Amino acid sequence: MNSFHFKLEGQKGCMRAGRMMTPHGEVKTPIFMPVGTLGSVKALDAQDLQQLKAQIILANAYHLYLRPGLNQLKKAGGVHNFINWQKPILTDSGGFQVFSLAHMKNSQQQSLVQISQDGVAFRSHLDGSTHFFTPEKALENQRVIGADIAMIFDQCASDQSSIAEMEAALARTYDWAKKAKIYWEEQGRTNAYGRYQALFGIVQGGTDLKLRHLALKQMLDLDFDGIAFGGETIGYNMVETVNLMKSLSKFIPDDKPRYGMGIGRDPANVVAAVKAGYDMFDCVGPSRLARNGSLFVGRLVLKKGEPIFESEFKHGRLSIGKQIYANDQRPIDPHCHCHTCQAGYSRSYLHHLYKTKELTYYRLASIHNLRFMLNLMEQLRKFILD
Ligand SMILES: [Zn+2]
Repeated sequence: MNSFHFKLEGQKGCMRAGRMMTPHGEVKTPIFMPVGTLGSVKALDAQDLQQLKAQIILANAYHLYLRPGLNQLKKAGGVHNFINWQKPILTDSGGFQVFSLAHMKNSQQQSLVQISQDGVAFRSHLDGSTHFFTPEKALENQRVIGADIAMIFDQCASDQSSIAEMEAALARTYDWAKKAKIYWEEQGRTNAYGRYQALFGIVQGGTDLKLRHLALKQMLDLDFDGIAFGGETIGYNMVETVNLMKSLSKFIPDDKPRYGMGIGRDPANVVAAVKAGYDMFDCVGPSRLARNGSLFVGRLVLKKGEPIFESEFKHGRLSIGKQIYANDQRPIDPHCHCHTCQAGYSRSYLHHLYKTKELTYYRLASIHNLRFMLNLMEQLRKFILD
């Protein structure tokens, strides 16, 4: 199969359940995508990911471009072979990382980033070497990496930006999106290995509703395969973010998958984003929190016919490093179906592993938090389709 499409299978209120077909197989939505920044979901291998029923993972074009570099990826025949994962992969364009460098200075106090109409010149955060990303180059990187879904190169404006700065960033993003679209068509919409590569547009515009709608209209005009909601707002102020997302979602055609970028730090956040009408989410949060001792506990309950995430813990997570868990023989979450909880590993043992920084801890904890998020998505999907 060498194509991409999304089929809406069911709806409940704004919530959607669907199927996304990619050259590396299908993805049932709504879906949480574990993040493998450098081509690895930290502490886990491809078999672990299969077992926790990950359907699609995310890799980071900026990081893979710098290390191992495009030559190695080309020699492997693309990222799927390189990391030994033959299921769908999405790459971000590197825009977010490149623009994050704008806040950093080198030892001579020079900015690491220079933005022009053509693209962005930046210095690697690793060795200070200089690079230049244009909208075409950012897509070419992703073509060589070989993801099933690529993202356009957008200018990420800070939420502290003025409206005028935000407008300028949107105008530039639109200009770059048009260039990306032309380049994508010229390449036959394929990656460097001849397989279809979907391209998603990104809606920026900060917290300004008018700008968000303008950005959405521009992205829809370019008719990309999917629409992503981007921006720094995400994850920090979920109420505002979800309101903005909801207001946009009704204008997005049913057959376009909707991706809430960076959403999923807390279980309640993804539930809210699914309710706003979105299908795909990614966040380093669940695996990073796991490594830092925060483990998800809680469940989806129906209240007045609406799914709500409920937990006895703040943000739905317990801190395994606390002394109270030293003698707690229960699994992390008695209702959880993950390998860690089902195989009989106790809070007491995980507390011990965490305290002694045993490497086994990172795997067991990551398996739990990621399976927890994936299970939440599966339950929401079932609720929508029932
Ligand atoms: Zn578990």
